[in-house]
Amino acid sequence: MSTSSPDLDCLTCGACCRTGHDGRILVPAEDLSRWKRLGRHDLVAQVQPGHFGEVGFATRDGGACVHLGVPGQQNACAIYEIRGTTCREFERGSWQCLEFRRDPSLVRGAAGG
Ligand code: SF4
Ligand code: SF4
Repeated sequence: MSTSSPDLDCLTCGACCRTGHDGRILVPAEDLSRWKRLGRHDLVAQVQPGHFGEVGFATRDGGACVHLGVPGQQNACAIYEIRGTTCREFERGSWQCLEFRRDPSLVRGAAGG
């Protein structure tokens, strides 16, 4: 998720974090190094094989990233402060964002969870 477009609310969406299968959201090696430095070996251990010989986030049944959702906020990222580079660089309001939002199966409107 990104914070650059004030008219779209990520917390009532979450679509870009529901990409469908393991490894789709890539995690570059620099993220793995950063998490190791932070002692978050649990995050390193959770990644799955992704495209282009890289690794990516694991997903739960239903296709949501394993880090999506905190108590009371189903669309919040549980590792927001240290989330991956791909997540940081994803631009709210970009065409990819708007494409994700067009899929009603990906958007969860209520905060809930
Ligand atoms: S698809 Fe766009 S609006 Fe929805 S959570 Fe992702 S960045 Fe935010
Ligand atoms: S790490 Fe957070 S921001 Fe990135 S895909 Fe998973 S839930 Fe979304």
